[in-house]
Amino acid sequence: MKTLSQKDFTNKRAVIRVDFNVPLDENFKVTDNTRIIAAKETIELVLKGGGSCVLISHLGRPKGKDAQFSLSHILEEVKQVLNVPVEFCDDCVGPEAEKVTGDLKPGSVILMENLRYYSEETAGDIGFAAQLSKLGDCYINDAFGTAHRAHASTTIIAKFFKDEKYFGKLLEKEVTAIKKVMETGEKPVLAILGGAKVSSKITIIENMLDKIDHLIIGGGMVYTFVKAMGGSVGQSICEDEFCDYALELIEKAKAKGVQIHLPTDVIIADDFSNDANKRPCDVYKIPEDWQGLDAGPETLKQFESVVLESKTILWNGPLGVFEFSSFATGTITLGEHISKSTANGAFSLVGGGDSVAAVKQFGFESKMSYISTGGGAMLESLEGKTLPGIAALME
Ligand code: AMP
Repeated sequence: MKTLSQKDFTNKRAVIRVDFNVPLDENFKVTDNTRIIAAKETIELVLKGGGSCVLISHLGRPKGKDAQFSLSHILEEVKQVLNVPVEFCDDCVGPEAEKVTGDLKPGSVILMENLRYYSEETAGDIGFAAQLSKLGDCYINDAFGTAHRAHASTTIIAKFFKDEKYFGKLLEKEVTAIKKVMETGEKPVLAILGGAKVSSKITIIENMLDKIDHLIIGGGMVYTFVKAMGGSVGQSICEDEFCDYALELIEKAKAKGVQIHLPTDVIIADDFSNDANKRPCDVYKIPEDWQGLDAGPETLKQFESVVLESKTILWNGPLGVFEFSSFATGTITLGEHISKSTANGAFSLVGGGDSVAAVKQFGFESKMSYISTGGGAMLESLEGKTLPGIAALME
């Protein structure tokens, strides 16, 4: 892995693929600048090292050139976050783009227009990648959120920078965090998989079984397992067609020496609503008209001891319908336990979609070892896939 610390940037123009695909409000103001902040370290390193930065990114899913998706909307926010002047170029390829980037002085930053104004970007077009490569002397990929896509700017462009391609700081941190869980994690290693459906987590579960000692299953996935083992799940979310698979998985886990932990009690509700009537219930005995929407108190105690004795923890997916405050207790309590275990020295990685949102919403952000910035890219990493954007940097 070629990292930025190995590079002298004096008088070099770095083409940096960032992920500035940020949310905008109706007045085109940035409502969450996390992704811009995440790229700051890399940009600052290049500038301090005597180089200049050509920032390339996509924003949304425009069909052709559409001013609604212009990166000019985020220019002010980028300037504020980076706290340096930033120029804007209203194209990302072509003679004008090559001229302005060719004239860049050390210490300057330029933000290029939306890569996805060109369909060649997502098509991974080699000619388009060649054009992008003319914008600088070296290439840095710092866009973990798109590293699972073989797009021109995330993967194909790397071919044009044989020895001059680098992991950005964010990408380096993401890859290191995944490695700490999947390869070099201190034992016992625990994976907590929650969320709605078993079917969307099969590949992750299968891949993780070879790497972990404990598996906590939570959220809506629980009921497919419980039904498979003969329990009554009432109206709880359940994928009948995956019951056989759930039993198979329990056997596989046993064979591999992985301990599976399922809830013993859950909070049931008489409706899928925040205002529903609710009560704790044995997970195997849910009445016909009720459904399980959160983990119960007994379960949380049992999960606490597993979390506290683990040295490496991966958390993907909430323990309940945390979007409803009435059913957020399980997810919050689990967040508290992981925070405590992390403070005691465990390494905790939160990755992939909704658990990241929950961790942010409930204020655990600074208490986890690492929170991934990439939803799909993190999921594919947990599934054991090699991300094309990362492979391209290693070739
Ligand atoms: P995922 O994207 O697979 O991680 O699923 C996250 C979603 O699972 C969240 O929106 C939760 O509301 C939902 N979820 C968690 N527990 C349950 C449950 N017991 N019943 C229905 N949905 C659930």
